[in-house]
Amino acid sequence: MSTGAVCWGLFSQLLAELGPEATRLATDAYAAQHPFGREDDRRQRQSVAVHLTALCLHVENRVREKQLRRMMTSLSRLVLPRLEVPEWPMLASPSDLGQVTVGDVDRAGPEERPQVIEEWASSVWAAWAEEHDTVRGWAALALSAYGR
Ligand SMILES: [Zn+2]
Repeated sequence: MSTGAVCWGLFSQLLAELGPEATRLATDAYAAQHPFGREDDRRQRQSVAVHLTALCLHVENRVREKQLRRMMTSLSRLVLPRLEVPEWPMLASPSDLGQVTVGDVDRAGPEERPQVIEEWASSVWAAWAEEHDTVRGWAALALSAYGR
């Protein structure tokens, strides 16, 4: 799971196989499971915040991938002004980022894959338990901005 090129290789291959309509959730799971690098970097903070909010919206609020794609393109514009902050805050990465990985998705057959991706998303979301309250707040703001 680390920063390994193995994960990235499997993920790139998976995206190519899934096609553009089915990559949203896998991308959220992958990004939230690899929150490494420069924790002080603004773009990395944004990446972790946006992908975790997407996982929350899907796993807890049952927002479907298609709607997530629409919501996520404007998440920063919708949520940050309501928080009255210019940038996403840093979240503390958990040491354990979940047991399900891109390798499990890779090993699954085509029919099983959607289910394994769902399990992957749930597992990564659960791993970030320490930040759930914060991210749920962002998800709630996103939902209210979309009138739900
Ligand atoms: Zn990995």
